[in-house]
Parts: sequence; C-alpha cells; structure tokens
Amino acid sequence: MPTVTLNNGVKMPIEGFGGYQISNRECKQVVLKALETGYRLLDTAQAYQNERAVGEAMIESDVKREDIFLTTKVDFTNSGYEQTKASLYESLEKLQVDYIDLVIMHQAYGDYYGGYRALEEFYREGKIRAIGVSNFFPDRLIDLSTFADTVPMVNQVESHVFYQQPEARKIMKQYGVQMESWGPLAEGKNNFFHHPVLLSIGEKYGKTAAQIGLRFLTQKDIVIIPKSVHAERMQENINIWDFSLTEDEMRELETLDIGKSLFFDHRAPETVEWLMDMYRYRFHK
Ligand code: NDP
Repeated sequence: MPTVTLNNGVKMPIEGFGGYQISNRECKQVVLKALETGYRLLDTAQAYQNERAVGEAMIESDVKREDIFLTTKVDFTNSGYEQTKASLYESLEKLQVDYIDLVIMHQAYGDYYGGYRALEEFYREGKIRAIGVSNFFPDRLIDLSTFADTVPMVNQVESHVFYQQPEARKIMKQYGVQMESWGPLAEGKNNFFHHPVLLSIGEKYGKTAAQIGLRFLTQKDIVIIPKSVHAERMQENINIWDFSLTEDEMRELETLDIGKSLFFDHRAPETVEWLMDMYRYRFHK
C-alpha cells in the first residue's frame, strides 16, 4: 500500500478503512475483515461510538499494532483543553492502545484551540504520532496553522469526484497539511455507483465506478478511507493499485465537480444550529 509522508515525517497509508455508521455490535467483525482484506489505516471517532470495538478487533487480529495506522477524532462536545484531555484518556482506554497514530479535532466548533493544545501536549509526550483537524475550511485552517505551535498534519474534509475542493487542496498544500477525504464514494449519492462517466472509464480497465472514483483521489495524493460492511466491497475498494488513470481521464473526471457539498454546508446557520442542539442536549443547556 503506498503511503504519504506527513509534515512531521510520519508515514500514513494513502488508503484506509472508514468506520462511520458501523454499530458497536457489528464493528469488531467488520474491522477484523478489513484488516484481513489488507487495510492498515483504521478511521474511527469518539462520535461513532465504536472505539471499543475497533480496539477489540486490533487485539484479536494477527496484524501487529505497529503495522496499523489508527486514527480517532475528538468530538466537538469535548472541545476545550481539559475536556479534550479527559476525552483522549477515555479514547486510549476504549481503543486499548498506549498510543494513537493520528488524532483529529473533528469540527471547527467550540473551543477547538484549547482542544488542539491538549492534542499538542499528547503529541509531545509521544501518546499521539500525528495531530490534525477535520472539516476545517481554508479560513479556519490558515488561522490555526498560523497561531498554533504545531501546523496540523492532516485535514479530513468531504471530498469525492462531485466535490473536489481544488482551492482548499491548494491551501492545504501551501501550509503542508495532508488532505484526507471523507465520503470518498459520496455515500453513493448523485448516482455514484452507476454514473456514466465513471462506468465508461472503468470499462477500459475492467474497474467499477467506485474504483475509478477512489483511484482519482489517490492520484491527486489525497488519502481515502472508504467504508463498507461488506467483504466483497472492501476488496473492491482496495483493489485500485494495478492501474492508473491517464491525464485525459483525470481531466474528464475533474469536470464532474459540482463545487458544493452533497451532504451539508458546515458553515450554514441551520447546520451549525443542528449540531449545537447535540451539544445542548448533552449538557442540558
Ligand atoms: P463512503 O463514501 O465511504 O461511502 C460508504 C457507503 O457506500 C456505504 O453506504 C457503503 O455501503 C457503500 N459502499 C462502499 N463501497 C461500495 C461499493 N464498492 N459499491 C457500492 N456501495 C459501496 O462514506 P462515509 O461517510 O462512510 O465516508 C468514509 C469514512 O470517512 C467514514 O466511514 C468515516 O470514517 C469518515 N467520515 C468522516 C467525517 C468527518 O466529519 N470527518 C464525516 C463522514 C465520514 P455498505 O457499508 O453497506 O457496503
């Protein structure tokens, strides 16, 4: 599996396994299957409520801990220095590991500066090998990269053929931040798996629409973490390393970009209100 090198020299697999929307009940078996299939980067989050199952799968698997690149994310309801620190100890306990490869501030909400300082502290102490952010649009990323002691190593943002974020990618490059895609298959939205352009390019290589969409991102040096609970799809999604898209095909795929999220705009008041309701519910505010 090819790797990318983060701005602190740590190597990260360019493809991994996404752990969102996998219940704690089925998660252990699914992650075991992903490791057996060859995935070495595992992506979870405090918000997914399956860290314990991910940890159990890592223990039960034959794959060595040091061969796995483990990512988790601090939920925005745990932002703030003290709260983030406490939540990191909780994540380490649930994941049953003594270090985490990458920890990300999940959203640019709440006291993410305070939370990020806790991440920096854990990083200096060697409990985390790399730190990063997620859903940080260029304005927030430039701000944090300028004022924090440590430039984030990764920014995990929505990115797929229909929302390619070329401007954000340029700024990440400029600041030395590795772009990682969430939703690389757009969760199937916009007819992803039957899209005529993806299918017709795929036909040439005997590849599926999913494989073309994933390969496209990796050829732009974007880390991908497709999720599937099905063994055959896990295999399909990782089987993208025996062909390359030509420059013309890359250009054709670039035209599929519609320039906006297929999910929601993190900065729209209604989205922020919706997310803040979770915070109010949790803290009875
Ligand atoms: P993906 O784009 O990875 O799509 C997953 C969906 O596509 C699932 O419904 C899956 O179904 C289906 N699928 C997967 N492979 C195939 C295939 N080859 N053919 C047909 N259907 C397929 O969406 P995610 O939202 O899961 O994103 C990936 C990861 O990114 C997450 O799991 C999570 O780790 C991370 N993420 C991070 C966010 C953030 O805010 N930082 C937000 C959202 C996701 P099935 O499982 O039934 O096979």
